[in-house]
Amino acid sequence: MVQRIAAICLAMASAGCCIAQAQTETFTAKTKTVALQCGNLFDGRGDSLRKNAVIVVEDGKIKDIVAAVPAGTEVIDLSRSTCVPGLMDTHTHILLQGDITAADYDEQLLKQSPEYRTILATVNARRALEYGFTSIRDLETEGAGYADADVKKAINNGIIPGPRMQVATRAMDVTGAYPLLGYAPNVPVPHGLQVVDGADNARQAVREQISHGADWIKVYSDRSYWVREDGVLDDIPTFTLDELRAIVDEAHRERHKVASHAMALNGVHNSVEAGVDTIEHGNYIADADLKVMAARGIFYVPTIYVGEYVAQGRAAAGASVWIKMIAIHEDTFRRAMRAGVKIAFGTDAGGFDWKVNPAKEFSSMVKFGMTPAQAIRAATSTAADLLGTQNELGTIEAGKLADIVAVPGDPLADVSLMEKVEFVMKGGVVYKRP
Ligand SMILES: [Zn+2]
Repeated sequence: MVQRIAAICLAMASAGCCIAQAQTETFTAKTKTVALQCGNLFDGRGDSLRKNAVIVVEDGKIKDIVAAVPAGTEVIDLSRSTCVPGLMDTHTHILLQGDITAADYDEQLLKQSPEYRTILATVNARRALEYGFTSIRDLETEGAGYADADVKKAINNGIIPGPRMQVATRAMDVTGAYPLLGYAPNVPVPHGLQVVDGADNARQAVREQISHGADWIKVYSDRSYWVREDGVLDDIPTFTLDELRAIVDEAHRERHKVASHAMALNGVHNSVEAGVDTIEHGNYIADADLKVMAARGIFYVPTIYVGEYVAQGRAAAGASVWIKMIAIHEDTFRRAMRAGVKIAFGTDAGGFDWKVNPAKEFSSMVKFGMTPAQAIRAATSTAADLLGTQNELGTIEAGKLADIVAVPGDPLADVSLMEKVEFVMKGGVVYKRP
């Protein structure tokens, strides 16, 4: 389906023709009835697989789940596969192409135009979908302005293939905290986000970002990490508590949610105090803060795999703290599970190369103590809860949108099979098939 649209695009000189064609294809695919014959079904709710389930899809939605294919219905044979709800990555950066070192990051901001970076982002959006991620929350453009809102629009208009997107646009941090840094004071350089100081300016930035399409407000709450003698990961908090409270209050007043990059002691504590909705990374979280997170329903998005991915490169560049942070992260993850904190799947893809399948995070979560079923729920039903799409997505149930993927074999026996998604359907449209 996707390939055919692309071929038509190349053949036709007029973009207007191409858009119309893409929409027609989508419409056709949505209206017909199709039955997915699944060897196993993991519906995103329980702990076990249902054998030989048939998912009937009609008008882009799940019509029914039955034991046998209804007579006269077109069948897609997934009898050797396990069907799973469309995966959700709640922490991505489609405008970023990996940044193990500061030089990698500076290069992208100094030598690539936002327009070029947006072209690369459309390729990443397609990759995300083909890896099986039918929804993503893209947590800031790293200096590429509001380009994420445009990629989302192009996907929603059927112009390019990609996941359902919620976007954070520019994000914010205080003066002197976020790259590009270290250039001579007389050399003006771009920053990877909107630099904001003071509660009033923070409110204004929230209003600006929401007016230009931000679904989420992203803040950076800490920086500069070191391990104390007692094993606690310490940091320098960026915003004051007053500034953070102003950001959260303004976002919530406008019915938007706040994601906070908070890796260590003070950043997490201030974020929880200010009332953010999600904690990103959370390598160290104090027990008292975990308790508050569980009580208030604040989500934890641990992004484990990226920590391992960047650790070697950053340690080689002199920052050995990134190696120590992995063990601290595992301890925090296990304490968060015991405390009953809602843990959602997020990878920071873009922080590592998009050619690496972000589904490696499933194995990381299992290594840190989740069962495969828990890890898959983190990327489906729990992630839908985080995104606020739990009434339409996140489980395979009659009435929900038909976002369904399939992997070979039994992912509850070997969760690394989640890296081998061979079938992708979004809203009843097939984007990949075995
Ligand atoms: Zn990130």
